[in-house]
Amino acid sequence: MGIKVAKFGGSSVADAIQIKKIKDIVFADDDIKYVVVSAPGKRFSEDTKVTDLLYLCRTHIEHKLAYEQIFQVICDRYLSMESSLGVDVGMKEELAKIRENINAESSVDYIASRGEYLNAKLIAAYLGFEFIDSARMVKFSDKGRFMEDRTNEEIEAVLKDVDRAVIPGFYGSRIDSSIKTFSRGGSDITGALIARAMKADVYENWTDVSGFLVADPRIVKDPRPISHISYKELRELAYMGASVLHEEAIYPAKVANIPINIRNTNRPQDPGTMITSEPAELEGDQIISGIAGSKDFTSITVYNSHMIGQKGFIRKMAGILEDHDVTIEHIPSGIDTVSVIVNNKIIDGKLDEIVEEFERQLKPESVDVAPDVALIATVGVGMAARTGTSAKLFTALAEAGVNIRMIDQGSSEMNIIVGVANKDFEKAIRAIYEAFVG
Ligand code: ASP
Repeated sequence: MGIKVAKFGGSSVADAIQIKKIKDIVFADDDIKYVVVSAPGKRFSEDTKVTDLLYLCRTHIEHKLAYEQIFQVICDRYLSMESSLGVDVGMKEELAKIRENINAESSVDYIASRGEYLNAKLIAAYLGFEFIDSARMVKFSDKGRFMEDRTNEEIEAVLKDVDRAVIPGFYGSRIDSSIKTFSRGGSDITGALIARAMKADVYENWTDVSGFLVADPRIVKDPRPISHISYKELRELAYMGASVLHEEAIYPAKVANIPINIRNTNRPQDPGTMITSEPAELEGDQIISGIAGSKDFTSITVYNSHMIGQKGFIRKMAGILEDHDVTIEHIPSGIDTVSVIVNNKIIDGKLDEIVEEFERQLKPESVDVAPDVALIATVGVGMAARTGTSAKLFTALAEAGVNIRMIDQGSSEMNIIVGVANKDFEKAIRAIYEAFVG
């Protein structure tokens, strides 16, 4: 018998219908010992997540506005779930207590955390599992710093004699017992922490998609699902804008070498995506694992015909950017040129000053600014083993009429990043997908 931790995200626990699905999933697998839940998410696209409603209550209180109507919407959701699931967790009293605490001006973290707390109470009763409050196990210092080792020990101590439990995600408590939440989407982190402490064989992350896709389905029609990907490759894709999992959730699973399996609550028959430390065995002619990208970068290229002999050139460029509080995404360079790629949002309002400073301190022959650059990463450990991968990529872009403004290949040969004009972004992704996946 193994141990699995199953975390169910907001849309998987949005109402009684969804919660019934998770019962089938959990009861079909005796290895699922610990169930971590989010607050109820959206039931349909115009719906509002309970966590957002709770934050909204708090904003109203801050501005001394009446929040009762919003709180009532939350109460109605939980009371209707309690009755549809046919359980009695004393929801009315729980809600009255929370209202009392809100009136006594509880912290924003306390208010936001109640979505997960109430949902875990309900789901524990419905599954017949024990409810274990994360506030007992997930620990933060009094200054709010997450205490990794202490949390690991507390989880182990509390859960070691518990057969099957439901645990609320997203929050824990400071040493002084006050509630502290992770950043938004943080239930993923709670699940990974439980998996790590309990030495789970698998961390199942149940959501509303059947895992990751090789490319964004809004750009490529019916992209192929990724059945297996390594943490490293995923990190590259996440950095370039692909998102499903909270970034910080990967770390605890990775250090404990626990595979993460992304699954779909609405299609439990789908195997989803498996994320492991080891890269997957390549299937057939598969070379790449995924394509991801983001728009809106600026490239600043400094040209100087004697650059190669100059000391400290890049250090000075980096220093100027640091003085302006600008982080660098990439530094592609040629014999007489060095470019820096920065995010438009970060450089907004500072560009002219930075270019002036480059001209003053570096005395270059020219400085070229290309705004509106999109970056696209083609990722896959399989690329390192194959010759001709970059040729294939560049040919595909040339044939699609896409001009490449920048190329950056990581030394691990696990990814090739190209910079193209924003307007060519979608076209370029489709061309790369066609060339490698077809
Ligand atoms: N309910 C929280 C949020 O909406 C945390 C989570 O669902 O992971 O951000």
